[in-house]
Amino acid sequence: MKLFKKTDKIDETRSTIVEELRRKILQSGMPSQVRDIALAELDLLSKMNPAAAEYTITLTYIEYLTTLPWNKKTADNLDLERAERILNERHYGLYGVKNRILEHLAVKILSSNRNPRILIVDDEEIARKNLEHILRKENYDVVSAKNGAEAFKLLDEQEFEIVLTDIKMEGLDGFAILDKVKAKYPNTKVIMITAYAAVDNAVEAIKKGAFHYIAKPFKIEEIKLSIKQASEDRVSTISTKGSILCFAGPPGTGKTSLGKSIADALGRKFARISLGGIKDEAEIRGHRRTYAGAKPGRIIEEIRRTGVANPVLMLDEIDKICQDFKGDPASALLEALDPEQNHAFIDHYLDVPFDLSGVMFIVTANIPDNIQPALLDRMEVIEFSGYTEEEKKNIALKHLIPKQTTEQGLTEFPPEFTDEAILKIIQEYTREAGIRNLERMIATICRKLATEVVKGSKPKTPVKITPEMVEKYLGPRRYYFEVADAKNRVGVVTGLVWTETGGDIIFVEAAKMKGKRELILTGSLGNIMRESAQAALSYIKSNASVFGISEEIFENQDIHIHVPQGAIPKDGPSAGATIAMALISLFTNRPAKRDVAITGELTLSGRILPVGGIKEKILAAKRAGVKTVIVPHRNKVDIDNLPEDFKKGLKIIFMEKIEDVVDIVLI
Ligand code: ADP
Repeated sequence: MKLFKKTDKIDETRSTIVEELRRKILQSGMPSQVRDIALAELDLLSKMNPAAAEYTITLTYIEYLTTLPWNKKTADNLDLERAERILNERHYGLYGVKNRILEHLAVKILSSNRNPRILIVDDEEIARKNLEHILRKENYDVVSAKNGAEAFKLLDEQEFEIVLTDIKMEGLDGFAILDKVKAKYPNTKVIMITAYAAVDNAVEAIKKGAFHYIAKPFKIEEIKLSIKQASEDRVSTISTKGSILCFAGPPGTGKTSLGKSIADALGRKFARISLGGIKDEAEIRGHRRTYAGAKPGRIIEEIRRTGVANPVLMLDEIDKICQDFKGDPASALLEALDPEQNHAFIDHYLDVPFDLSGVMFIVTANIPDNIQPALLDRMEVIEFSGYTEEEKKNIALKHLIPKQTTEQGLTEFPPEFTDEAILKIIQEYTREAGIRNLERMIATICRKLATEVVKGSKPKTPVKITPEMVEKYLGPRRYYFEVADAKNRVGVVTGLVWTETGGDIIFVEAAKMKGKRELILTGSLGNIMRESAQAALSYIKSNASVFGISEEIFENQDIHIHVPQGAIPKDGPSAGATIAMALISLFTNRPAKRDVAITGELTLSGRILPVGGIKEKILAAKRAGVKTVIVPHRNKVDIDNLPEDFKKGLKIIFMEKIEDVVDIVLI
């Protein structure tokens, strides 16, 4: 009796759980084909022993499915003026970037204002007329066909945005129509309708690219919802197609915060996934359920967390993936991002398609060249460059200081930073393309001020922050104008590099000593940089007389080239000209001017090829106190495109051959 009672009890709890889940499934708004699968799983669950491990796995899975925001979307706020206002209020400068974003939104607004054209194909007259009537009442532009052949004729003549077709028809059936539409108009959404109880058909239809699948007898609401989703999907597909935004630039230049503002401007939820730390494909696309401890991927997880199917999803550091990885995370990402396929994104854990086409993806990268070509191909890269001192000062005054004043509780007596104090922080306490450290330093000052106020050593009145106070709060200066403060030397030449954190200056050092004509290279140089050093040496040796160098100087000598900060790996071809100049300085015994920086790729035949990152390099040169910059002639267009205040105070010289600039660099 006891045993019977116990099993009865288990059965009872299990059936309550099952019923509860059934209710959740039906209320979750999942598409019908997913609902069928969830119900099938539920059926399995109801027959399982609750003590079995599988029971828990299946239970968790079904629960997970019911908590996803299948058809929950926030309505977009498509007010362009409001968007513009938000972007301008929160972000200083960045005009080009903001314009591109507003254009992007404008396209979205335009395409959402048009009613889609719908083709209805059904051989049952009553059903066809009914559908026509319902959809016309909803203001859609409707055309109908009474069989496959007629539909084919119409499709030959014109494009429809949505096709609603019965599957079972005499002659050409719904699948034939689906094939034709997909071949001719890949963006058209096809919704299939058929008699009940044909799950196989549904799966096949979705596999072949149908947008939705609706079983007869259908509810009018179901049809309306499906059409609405298809037309919304059409809108986002049109406007995001081929233009997933990619924000590229050094850290701290406002990429993330601008992404957040776009979400706010549109009235969408915002989420962020950092791809930088991701080690394998499963983190993006999930683990299969058979795997112990299986989890969905981060994309689905984040979407669930936001609770809507159309957030702005920011994928950070896309240029940091796919180096030494398990699986192929890039292709998983491609599936998620590509508007052609992301309406049926399959996460391994979910194992059913989830429609990502409503998501607005924005990816970020430090250096776009490092993004996989297949991904880069689908993106519209918007470049964020570092800020000039003037811009940094303005951002500090208008945004960073007010923000930190509030955050550190100083709203009632806000500190007043003088221009000189801000410049001092920028020049002596930070060395960066963006403004992360600047913000940190301002926060430190505000925090220390707050402490003093609380301790009573400062009155509760607005305090003026002068350069002296900056030094008092932040300690001795951390950076010097490396170039202006250094001595001119033989064999040491200033160069410019482009790194993930923006531009920077380097010093290439060359020395010679008795030896066996070896070339020694140190300073964590990568292969490309080592090879450019070899090419530079060969070029100088083979043209020694041009530079006034006697051939004997190479006899019985070792040559050593070093680039300090030895612990930081360096690579790339753009130091070729710098290395060559260091060698010329060494062999001619003429010191090089520290405040002249040179960048360019040098070929073995002495040609100078253009280099990347000119904007960042120019900013870095100014930060370091360089007075003259020598760049390849073929970079002239990049220089011409720079705003004037980037170039202010710098002399820029274009070189075609290294010979032309020897007298500019060497004393
Ligand atoms: P990133 O994502 O490029 O690393 P963030 O968006 O995190 O940069 O920006 C770092 C900080 O600098 C944030 O507090 C941000 O608000 C601020 N910031 C950056 N650029 C601007 C700008 N143009 N105007 C106002 N604030 C900015």
